[in-house]
Amino acid sequence: MSSLLSVKGMNINFDTSRGLLEAVRNVDLEIPAGMSVGVVGESGSGKTVMCRAAMGLLQGSNVKRSGKVVFDGRELTAMSKSEVREQFGSGMAMIFQDPMTALNPVRRIGSQVSEGLRVRLGMSKKDALARSKELLELVRIPNAAAVLKLFPFQLSGGMRQRVMIAIAISCSPKLLFADEPTTALDVTVQAQILQLLRELREDLKMSMVLVTHDLGVVAGNTDYVAVMYAGEVVEFAETKKLFADMRMPYTEALLESIPTIDQKSGARLAVIAGRLPDPTDRGAGCSFAPRCKYAQDKCRNEHPELKQDPDGHLYRCWFPIGEAK
Ligand code: SF4
Repeated sequence: MSSLLSVKGMNINFDTSRGLLEAVRNVDLEIPAGMSVGVVGESGSGKTVMCRAAMGLLQGSNVKRSGKVVFDGRELTAMSKSEVREQFGSGMAMIFQDPMTALNPVRRIGSQVSEGLRVRLGMSKKDALARSKELLELVRIPNAAAVLKLFPFQLSGGMRQRVMIAIAISCSPKLLFADEPTTALDVTVQAQILQLLRELREDLKMSMVLVTHDLGVVAGNTDYVAVMYAGEVVEFAETKKLFADMRMPYTEALLESIPTIDQKSGARLAVIAGRLPDPTDRGAGCSFAPRCKYAQDKCRNEHPELKQDPDGHLYRCWFPIGEAK
């Protein structure tokens, strides 16, 4: 299967007053054309930094990076900033967790949705507004013509996220990055937005990277899952295989921390004990060892290599689930 986005050997470090902060470590990731890949991990696991770097959005003199990113056959890491910017719109697009901060509060919805159409596709103001109305309808916003004239604060959180999605798909991107797109929304709206993204992805034949801290969100919404911990991809598999036969203790702990529907009221939610390791001092062994119930001496002293099952399932663990300890 051909890759639309290929990340090879990505390392991202930040030069800070506390020393070199290792945010992303030696990440390889393939996003197959037309597929949806979930990138899952706790806050601070490096998932957002990795995705922003893959999109060429990580700027700053304190950022040290290495590795190669190829998008749609072109090496992004060899491009100038302006060449990378040209990839946005019809190449890549992104939606964020909080649409209120991503939208301009003092511009009407119509002006914001039509901007990309005018700037990137060269449409006239009238044509761009007509297309904006169609885009709002495509993301299931009722009374689209009236909504074009509103300001973001006049819409609910779910409607604002639909507007962000309309902006993101306005130039028909090949790849959509969705960074925690439902975290700020209540549960019912979350499910509606995920369904909308699923339908749009299929209708528009888009690939998608869905970044989330919630393993439950990737089930049913992605074809593949990459689990990140302490800046590394620690497990990668087809979503169905991951849930049927997970190999990493960290993935298992993430799954156990999802509340279940039959949980008794008042029961304590399971949490992963301990904290992510200090990113300026990753230590010699497995980064998850201080929190892992399966950890042994080897885990604390030797960094686990990436192993691969015959079906392509990747994991980084000395004592994976399913193998005799
Ligand atoms: S290598 Fe050891 S500490 Fe790390 S996840 Fe596997 S069993 Fe746990």
